[in-house]
Amino acid sequence: MSQFVSERLYSDYAQSFAVSELLFEVKTEHQHLEIYQTPFLGRVMLLDGVVQTTEKDEFIYHEMMVHVPLFAHPNPKRVLIIGGGDGGILREVLRHKNVEHVTQVEIDGSVIDMCKAYFPNHSQGAFDDPRANIVIADGKAFVTECQDTFDVIISDSTDPIGPGEVLFTSDFYQDEKTCLNPGGIMVAQNGVPFMQGDEVSNTYQRLQRLYQDAYFYVAPVPTYTGGFMTLAWATDDASLRQQDSATIAARYEQAGFATRYYNPDIHVASFALPNYIRQLLK
Ligand code: SAM
Repeated sequence: MSQFVSERLYSDYAQSFAVSELLFEVKTEHQHLEIYQTPFLGRVMLLDGVVQTTEKDEFIYHEMMVHVPLFAHPNPKRVLIIGGGDGGILREVLRHKNVEHVTQVEIDGSVIDMCKAYFPNHSQGAFDDPRANIVIADGKAFVTECQDTFDVIISDSTDPIGPGEVLFTSDFYQDEKTCLNPGGIMVAQNGVPFMQGDEVSNTYQRLQRLYQDAYFYVAPVPTYTGGFMTLAWATDDASLRQQDSATIAARYEQAGFATRYYNPDIHVASFALPNYIRQLLK
């Protein structure tokens, strides 16, 4: 009989999965890191007891966090990633050959080191790409002091507890926007609204004050349990969210790489929010 591990992100609801081996565990300077081998999900990483990524379903989240903003933007050359220590976001960004520079700001170097070792298929050498500049720092401190500007900013943080909390504040969003070029797009992991509805409402209120177009798009990531995950979207160019699938398809074809979840029709459809999520945007 396999042993099961439970994720206790919510007080009244938990998900459990069978594990065959605890591969690595450490209390880093910032968080509790666990990596398991599992029969169903492949390898799984938890931070502070919360599922961060699994080999089985990471493609859904990483493709949607990256290709929606990078194909919506007409010519993204400079990208900023905040968090993303497992390397999946960086891997997908670097598939875009028109991207010339990526800065990734990760607070916990141990996450990068352990994910390079235990999740090689997540980063696939991305951390060594000459276009990638890896900075070990707090994302909030980085955007507050940053002189650089970017066409797309992707915030792939933990949930707003522990070190990730600061990445969901008005101060952070304000400073982050100073790092965005005119016509730039910001996207951010923003929880599962069926379970964490306040996170969507709070983010919407905060982004709406700063951007012409603050909205969300969705992706169903099985191990971010509770249905659709909402990904925050913010830009001062409201036309970027209105592009039709033919426009997106032309860029997708031009890019010349295959994806397992993302496609131009999914891109457009992901902005169609169910009413229970729209209600959170009041
Ligand atoms: N896909 C996951 C999700 O949606 O919950 C997130 C995965 S990624 C592993 C989250 C990363 O955010 C971790 O590597 C963590 O160390 C990093 N992180 C948390 N707080 C941070 C901060 N203030 N600045 C930079 N990185 C941070």
